[in-house]
Amino acid sequence: METDMRRMITIVPSPGSDAAIALGCTCPVLDNGHGRGYMGRSEQFWVSADCPIHGDGTGHQQYHKEAADER
Ligand SMILES: [Zn+2]
Repeated sequence: METDMRRMITIVPSPGSDAAIALGCTCPVLDNGHGRGYMGRSEQFWVSADCPIHGDGTGHQQYHKEAADER
C-alpha cells in the first residue's frame, strides 16, 4: 500500500494560495489575497494556528515569505 509521503513540501506555498490549500492549508484566504499577501503586500501573511503547513500553535501570526514566490 502506498502512502502519501510523496507530498513532501520543499517550498511552502504562500498561505491562502491555491497551492497551499491543495496541501491542506487552512489559513485565511481572503486576508491573504489568495496567496498574494495581506492587503496586497507580498511579504506578510496571516496564518492559522491549526494550519498543518504554516501554523505552529501560537495563534495568528505574521508569516514572512521566504524563497517561495508564485507570481
Ligand atoms: Zn496555511
